[in-house]
Amino acid sequence: MKRRTAEPYKIKSVEPVAMLSYEERKQSLQQAGYNTFLIDSKDVYIDLLTDSGTTAMSDAQWGALMTGDEAYAGSKSWRKLEEAVRDVYGFQYVLPTHQGRGAENILSQLKIKKGDVVPGNMYFTTTRAHQELNGATFVDIIIDEAHDPTIEHPFKGNVDLIKLQKVIDEVGAENIPYVCLAVTVNLAGGQPVSMQNMKLVYDLCKIHDIDVMLDATRCVENAYFIKEREAGYANRSIAAILKEMMSYADGCTMSGKKDCLVNIGGFLAMNDEELYIRSRELVVVYEGMPSYGGMAGRDMEAMAIGIRESIDDHYIEHRIGQVRHLGEQLIDAGIPVVKPIGGHAVFLDARAFLPHLRQEEFPAQALAAALYLDSGVRSMERGIVSAGRNKTTGQHNTPNLELVRLTIPRRVYTNNHMDVVVDSIVDLYKKRASICGLKMDYEPPTLRFFNARFSPLSENGELMSETNRTS
Ligand SMILES: *Cc1c(COP(=O)(O)O)cnc(C)c1O
Repeated sequence: MKRRTAEPYKIKSVEPVAMLSYEERKQSLQQAGYNTFLIDSKDVYIDLLTDSGTTAMSDAQWGALMTGDEAYAGSKSWRKLEEAVRDVYGFQYVLPTHQGRGAENILSQLKIKKGDVVPGNMYFTTTRAHQELNGATFVDIIIDEAHDPTIEHPFKGNVDLIKLQKVIDEVGAENIPYVCLAVTVNLAGGQPVSMQNMKLVYDLCKIHDIDVMLDATRCVENAYFIKEREAGYANRSIAAILKEMMSYADGCTMSGKKDCLVNIGGFLAMNDEELYIRSRELVVVYEGMPSYGGMAGRDMEAMAIGIRESIDDHYIEHRIGQVRHLGEQLIDAGIPVVKPIGGHAVFLDARAFLPHLRQEEFPAQALAAALYLDSGVRSMERGIVSAGRNKTTGQHNTPNLELVRLTIPRRVYTNNHMDVVVDSIVDLYKKRASICGLKMDYEPPTLRFFNARFSPLSENGELMSETNRTS
């Protein structure tokens, strides 16, 4: 018998969750325009919308809040954060930002000139938005396997080096301000990049004098996959693997709201002193003094501790294990999900789940709405709505992946919560034929998924048949 493991923490404080009736959920969903982003959290039972900023902090972090140094300049808390980043990630220069996109803004403004091309292993919404706002075009250089949710590949986030070489040949290294390498790849399903691939990308970029900037948001999760799957790493610590990963990059943007185990914060880190000095100027313009960058002293205290807690081998093993606990039960029940199960989320394949819907009927949006209606579990769309429209043609971008993301907050839910989610999805799969598509009633011009509103395309205005509705 395989011995079971449990959460490597015990609960010191609890937060009751809402348990609404079907009728109440239905009303809440209608009010939210069938967009799970617009549902009030007071109406949500298990919130798998995002792992961003939803972390439960440790008692050490809560305790440290009280010791935060709120000095405007030269805060002790900033020094602790700077030291933690240097120690754990190994970059020389660090600048705090209010969250990850603050770092993306500064990096994009400084490195990109109009007409540039930024190659990356699949886009991320805010990252690409900042690149485009500064006049660059994003080019996807991820391996083809990443676009097929059924293919098993241990490192589905890898860069296709032939694609990268081709971009360099076509546009010229001087028009590539940097390669943006995400570890792990959020939109591919939390899929990791191998150490070998990181090294090869770095070597190729150095030949052409191109910088590699990591989107390090989930780098600890990536490190765990390397330990588990890549030859030669099984006996190395997560801390050591992480350090090696960072050595194949010139810097990183970081959203502290994920792997740094805090609710707010971020940073920009690099080894190039000149870039650091220029970045510091922009931090003052957009974020705040370079010794707080939009964070309170107490937030920096908490992040400094979170960064160190995140590389605990037991923590990260349970973290990835819990995501897998959800994903593998769904696979066993025959539910179409992206394989292999990634680091922070399980992704339902909405095309395969709802094959009767065309992509223009927003199958993933409809499935996320139906899941909420069925059980109060909140997920989010990652498909045609998130992909937005083509800049030049104005048409919908039509990504191959039409997914519903079930994102697991760190240290918040137990494996029992995961089991409840499994039961709801399995039930929903049985009644999937009765789920209808949606039409978009309101479409914001940028990052439309946050605020778009929808309504069901059925004749009676119902999202799904109510013959076997839940309580
Ligand atoms: C969350 C996230 C960001 C942006 O960070 P924020 O802290 O939300 O601004 C960038 N890249 C990836 C991969 C992310 O998941």
